Parts: sequence; structure tokens; C-alpha cells
Amino acid sequence: MSRICVVGAGVIGLTCAVQLLEAGHRVDIVARDLPLETTSAVAAAIWYPYRALPQDRVTAWSKTSYSVFDAIAAPVEYGGSPEAGVRMMAGTEVFARRQTEPWWRPAVPSLDRETALPADYTDGWTFVTPVIEMPVYLAWLAARVADLGGTITRMNLRALPPGADLVVNCSGLGSRLLGTDRTVVPVRGQVVYVEQVGLERWWLDGAGPTYVVPRSKDIVVGGTDQEGEWSRTPSPEAAVDILRRASRLVPELRNARILRHKVGLRPVRPAVRLERVGDVIHCYGHGGAGVTLSWGVAEEVASLAG
Ligand SMILES: Cc1cc2nc3c(=O)[nH]c(=O)nc-3n(C[C@H](O)[C@H](O)[C@H](O)COP(=O)(O)OP(=O)(O)OC[C@H]3O[C@@H](n4cnc5c(N)ncnc54)[C@H](O)[C@@H]3O)c2cc1C
Repeated sequence: MSRICVVGAGVIGLTCAVQLLEAGHRVDIVARDLPLETTSAVAAAIWYPYRALPQDRVTAWSKTSYSVFDAIAAPVEYGGSPEAGVRMMAGTEVFARRQTEPWWRPAVPSLDRETALPADYTDGWTFVTPVIEMPVYLAWLAARVADLGGTITRMNLRALPPGADLVVNCSGLGSRLLGTDRTVVPVRGQVVYVEQVGLERWWLDGAGPTYVVPRSKDIVVGGTDQEGEWSRTPSPEAAVDILRRASRLVPELRNARILRHKVGLRPVRPAVRLERVGDVIHCYGHGGAGVTLSWGVAEEVASLAG
């Protein structure tokens, strides 16, 4: 059993902590932002490998996460945890032009070409994917950390902490400072939350990016994709544009009441960094797919921890 310090309490830090605790380690998380204050809390969040590389590792990590989320979403009598806020949901990704199968195709059990498309689209894929209601899910993960004997402490670090047998760096964009890694950059994403209008399937148009993700009490409508932009203040013009684009996919959104606006900064890197360097395991740079990759990368972190 090692004493492990996990830096970061977003979806990556919490999931790694759960895996490490379940492997029998003692784990303490330190983080500047607590789970509901992180970028992870802003994620839509749909399982979809977006803005994360390299393709082979991302496909393998995504596949692992898909099956873990599928198990979490199962009914209690089948070992699932409905209180975690994870649902398996069908939806469609649409395209203006004919497509070949996506590179991440091996990560999903099935993918069907869609013929019932909104106006102006010529191709699409329908598939079932996990939809993760992040505020509920992050609280569930944090409770799981506590139940397994882990701790979470708020602390703004200027460097990776000394003293533990092993440090797991899950600081996302914070790795610019903590990992002295200038290749991690923010890619700003804005979302609009609107009231639920009875929507039971998700929609995605990668050109935009435009997505509509229904949750239990609201709908997350996105988005934007602005590289190198640090502002977390929502832009009213962007919100109007997001709703205009999304209404092409789901016309009912035109009359839906707007509840709130949010912005998150995706930690994008040319490739996800997951490697052990001495007593530090780096696990950051998951871009637009941190939720999608979380269980896959956490499994690899636990095996690197030994
Ligand atoms: C609008 C939007 C929509 C998204 N939708 C999806 C989606 O549908 N599906 C999906 O898979 N992904 C989605 N993402 C991407 C996803 O949110 C990120 O990939 C993910 O949140 C990254 O998780 P993380 O734990 O690495 O980082 P974060 O959630 O940012 O957590 C980083 C942690 O490190 C801590 N930290 C940083 N610096 C320091 C420091 N100096 N000292 C102490 N602690 C520090 C922070 O306080 C925080 O606790 C979306 C992102 C946005 C913005």
C-alpha cells in the first residue's frame, strides 16, 4: 500500500482516486477547485471522443469508459447505481456531407447510419452512448472517494507536492504551471442550459460544434470551441448563435426557457499525457473528452502505480 497524493478534483482526479483506493492504496486529493467548481462540472456530458489524441490510445480508453458507464447506468438489481446520474441514451450525430465510419468506431458496440435527418443534413450516425449529468456524477464520485477512505482538501499549489510515495498529477489546465507544460492550452466552451421540453435523445453536429444533451431537469445546449481563449465570462452573442444552430437540430428549443449560461476551459494538448516519471504519474490534457476517457485512463494510472 502506497501513500498517494492526487492533484486535482475534476473527473480525472476523482476517477483515478477511486481506482487507486480500490486497488488498496491510501489516497489524499488536493485541489484548488472542489469537484463542482471544476471544468468537469461544466461538461455536457456525453460519451464522445472529441479533441483528444492519439487516436489509438483514445479509442482504447474510451472503450473501457463506455463499458464502466454502461455498468453504472444499469438498474440496481443488475449492480448499477442509478443515483450516479448516468444514463444510456440513443442519439444522432449529423453531417452536411457523406461520411466514412469514425476512427473511434471500435469503442462503441453499435453504430447505425441514420436516414431520418433534420433538413440540410445528408448523413448521420445513430448510436447509444452514456450521458453523464456532471453535478450529480461528480458528487457521487466524491462520495465514493470518501466511502473508500480517501480525502479531498482545498489547496492552491505552486508546484507538485513533496512527501507522498507517489503523486498523480490530474490538474488539467493547471499543468501549465504544475507540470511546467506550455503545450496544454485552453479551448473555451460555452453552453446554455434550457428547460426540459420532453427531449429524450441527444443530437450532435461536429461542425460548429453544436450539441443538444437532455438531462433529468434541463437540456445542455452547446457550444463553442475557441482555442487559446481564457475568458470564463459567457458571451451573449455566442449564446444567441448556439441556440440558433441547435434549433436546426431540435426546433422545440426555439421556445424553451433559458435557465443559465456557463463557460469551461477544455485542457487541450497535442496528445493526452499519461506517463510515469519517477514518483509522479502525469494524467492530463484530455481536451474535450475527459469524461469519455476517465475510466480508461484511471485504469492505466492504477496499473502504473503498481
Ligand atoms: C462546455 C464543455 C463541454 C464539454 N463536454 C464534454 C462532454 O460532453 N464529454 C466529455 O467527455 N468531455 C467534455 N468536456 C471536456 C471535459 O470537461 C474535460 O476534458 C475534463 O473536465 C477535464 O477533466 P480534468 O479533471 O482533467 O480537469 P478539471 O475538471 O479542470 O480539473 C482540474 C483540477 O485540477 C485542479 N488544479 C489545477 N491547478 C491547480 C493548482 N495549481 N493547485 C491545486 N489544484 C489545481 C483544479 O482545481 C481542479 O480540481 C467538455 C468541456 C467543456 C468546457
